[in-house]
Formats: sequence, structure tokens, C-alpha cells
Amino acid sequence: MAKVPITVAHGDGIGPEIMDATLRIITEAGAELAIETIEIGEKVYLRGNAAGIEPQSWESLTRTKVFLKAPITTPQGGGFKSLNVTTRKVLGLYANVRPCIAYAPYVRTKHPGMDVVIVRENEEDLYAGIEHRQTADVYQCLKLITRPGTEKIVRYAFEYARANGRKKVTCFAKDNIMKMTDGIFHKIFDEIGAEYPDLEKEMWIVDIGAAKLADTPQAFDVIVMPNLYGDILSDVAAQIAGSVGLAGSSNIGDHCAMFEAIHGSAPRRAGQNLANPSGLLLGSVLMLGHIGQADVAARVHNAWLSTLEQGIHTYDIFQDGISKQKVGTKEFADAVIKNLGKMPNELKAVDYSKAKAMTLTPPSVPKKLKKELVGVDMFLDWSGGKPADLGAILTPITAGNLKLSVISNRGVKVFPGGMTETFCVDHWRCRYMGENGGTIQHNQIVELMQKLVSAGLDVIKTENLCTFDGENGFSAVQGN
Ligand code: NAD
Repeated sequence: MAKVPITVAHGDGIGPEIMDATLRIITEAGAELAIETIEIGEKVYLRGNAAGIEPQSWESLTRTKVFLKAPITTPQGGGFKSLNVTTRKVLGLYANVRPCIAYAPYVRTKHPGMDVVIVRENEEDLYAGIEHRQTADVYQCLKLITRPGTEKIVRYAFEYARANGRKKVTCFAKDNIMKMTDGIFHKIFDEIGAEYPDLEKEMWIVDIGAAKLADTPQAFDVIVMPNLYGDILSDVAAQIAGSVGLAGSSNIGDHCAMFEAIHGSAPRRAGQNLANPSGLLLGSVLMLGHIGQADVAARVHNAWLSTLEQGIHTYDIFQDGISKQKVGTKEFADAVIKNLGKMPNELKAVDYSKAKAMTLTPPSVPKKLKKELVGVDMFLDWSGGKPADLGAILTPITAGNLKLSVISNRGVKVFPGGMTETFCVDHWRCRYMGENGGTIQHNQIVELMQKLVSAGLDVIKTENLCTFDGENGFSAVQGN
């Protein structure tokens, strides 16, 4: 078999030890790899590179397109960018896939039988990194959910489920509150789900879904969710399965993929031959499947399961009465190598040869919609008095048919009407609409803004209000 080129980073802290153990095991198991090593992380950051990765390393990554990455240490203090976030975005790794499996009774868990795969959207949502301080009191983070981004992750989840013999895909979102952003995520889940009649589908509001996941993870199979919920709940899922030290994950894009353990560099454990290499090893198993070496992946995984069953455990999963031998990183790797070819007796053996190919079609071509401009939200930094005072200033200011409709503070209507109990900050959304539902022109918005500025008001941002095929492209004001 021809060797497959991959890029490897040994990382920081316990990284080099667990990477050595992992590479030793998969090489002994017959992985055919042409390894290119790059340096990333702490040393690179401390050389003054804020990204933690050198330009020539990107060259290796974009050529091999496969990245096996040990955890790194992000130095404390400002200015250093998260290498994980950068890598995911630069390489377009939109799908984060994290199997969270219980290995009871060999690893302590309250949930024997748990076998959940979290598919997390990796590039969008609140992680776009678009934040602003708009007034003395108000900070904003933009939540971006796109149709193509959602189509890609939802399709990935359904294809993953079908390819891996899973039965059900669940969507977590909060569309009862975020009707537009999480609403489109849910809608696309329903649209794409309809193409998979062989799979069961269900939708949970993320809060109660998270509670159910923590209480009865056996009720779930594959769960797909937007970035922030996925970030939080994939750690919860890994922890309740047994330990964050045991989970590996893949980050998949159209062109490249990255495989890693989910834990960090555990600096206090570094250099002592203590760390558990299992998370990175299971990350490498996902990588071997990805590069077409499924038989090697299964050989490694089954040897690892056999080692757990034999009670050969590192300190982090060692339990009196169950574990037989407390070992270090190197000895654990030796034990897995010795078990290559063995199948577990009680834990469920894996067989990756049955995995089917995934058909990841590109996102749909955007529909041509009739977009009409019907109003504008003018955001003001103002601390000149009560809502009615601001209403009195703004009502006479108009631009053509563009007239003040409503003022809200933190989303709640405060003028006209409003309640004296509503707490207000220095950040006001002043909604101007075309009179009688009429359309408006962009230059009316410019004219209105000029008039507001001339009246001594501090306009901090504007947001156009449009309809798409007659449907409002903006949320209603609470209390209006
Ligand atoms: P951590 O995951 O490194 O450690 C949390 C706890 O788990 C510690 O008690 C640690 O000893 C233990 N632990 C973690 N992995 C283990 C293993 N394989 N075997 C045995 N015990 C293990 O989290 P942290 O302490 O919050 O972060 C340490 C550093 O790692 C930070 O600089 C952080 O930025 C970085 N980090 C990197 C990644 C990554 O590169 N993917 C992810 C998370 C954190």
C-alpha cells in the first residue's frame, strides 16, 4: 500500500509523549504513513508569532490535507490567537465530530451503554469573532448562521449516521427564542432530514435537550448542533461517558481534515510518563478511517479496547477493584501493541470495514428572492433621560415616508407606551419604517442618519430592514 502523507504536530505539555505513543501504536498496527512534522504552539507563540504556526507549516497542511495534532499550550495573556480556531477556519473544517462512548465497567461512568456522536458546526454562530463595544455599557457579539454553512453540517450529520449504521439524528437548537438564526438551523434540519427516510429524526430545544443528554444519554444517537451549544455539550458528553481524557475528535472540511484528542496539554503532567494517550489514539483511529486504512483503524481500536478490558490503565482512569495494573504512557502503548490482533470480550468490538461512503453534496444554489427595503433600525448611544424624552426628540425627525415606529431597549419596547418598570441602558434601537408598509430607498436612510447626527444624536449602527418574497427578514420588537 502506498504511504499516505500526513502532517503531524507533537504539541506542548503531554503532547510529545502521547504523540510518540500514538505513532508507535499505529505504525506497529500497519498504518502506511509518510509523516511530515511541523512545530506549532507555545514555542512558536513565544517567538512572537501571534498565530502559533509558521507560514511553511500551512504549506505542509494544505499539501497533505491531513493533520494529526497533539494538544498545545496557549500562553496566558493577550494577543495570542487560538490556533484551533484559526486552523478550523483557515482550512474550512466545518464539521467537528466527537464520539462519546462509555466503557463500563472498565471506566467509571454513570451511564453504561452511552454511545453518542456529537456533530458540531465548527465555523459559524457566535464564533465568527465579530464583537463590538457600542456604548459605555453595552458589548455585542454577532451570531451568524448561514444557509450553506447549516446545509453542510446537517447533511454531514445525516450522511455520517447513514454511513456508520446509526439509526437516529437529533437536532439541538433554541429556535423558540432565536427564531431566525436557530430557526433556519431547525428548518434546514427538517428539509435535509426529509431526504433520509431510513433515519429517525427528532428536535429538542437545547436547554431541555442538554438536560436529557446529561440524564439519559442512551436516548441519543447522533446529535447535530450549532457551534456554541456543540462546544459546551460535546465536553459534557465526553465527561459523562467516562473521561475527557478518552475522547478523540475529527474536524472535517471539503479539502482538509484535522484529528486530535479533545483534552488540553495538561502541563502539570508533562514529562512524567503519566498521561493517557487514549484520546489522541482514538483521534488517530478516526484519521485512519478517513485516509482509507479502515482495517488498521479497527485493529488499533480493538487492541485498545482489549487493553482497557485487561485492566491496564493509566492513573486518570485507574479504579481499585477494576483496574489490574497502573501504567505510564509508554507501558500503556506497549500493552496496546501487544494486543494488536486481539478482539475485546465484553466491550463492543469495532468493524470499520462496514462503514459506507458518504455523499456530501454541495449546498443548494441560493434561490432568487425579491428583496425589498422597508425600514431601518437606528441604534443610538443616548443617556439623555427617559424613553419618552427620546421619543419626543425622534418623532419629528423623518426622511420621506420613513417615520419612527418604535423604540426598544435591550429588545423590549419602551416607546410609544412601554412600562416604567423596564430597566434601560444607554443603547437604544429606534425602528423607522416606511409609512403604511411602503418600501423605502437607501438614500432615505442616509438622509435620516444625517438628520439624527445634526440633532446631536450618536448613531452607533444601522441595520436595514428588508422583506424577502414578502416575508419579514427581521424580528419583531418584544412587547410591540
Ligand atoms: P487539560 O485538558 O490540559 O487538563 C484538564 C485536566 O485533565 C488536568 O487535571 C489534566 O491533568 C487532566 N488530563 C488532561 N488530559 C489528560 C491525559 N491525556 N491523561 C491524563 N490526564 C489528563 O485542560 P487545561 O488544564 O484547562 O488546559 C491546559 C492547556 O491546554 C491550556 O494552555 C489550554 O489552552 C490548552 N488546551 C489545548 C487544547 C488543544 O490543543 N486542543 C484543548 C484544550 C486546552
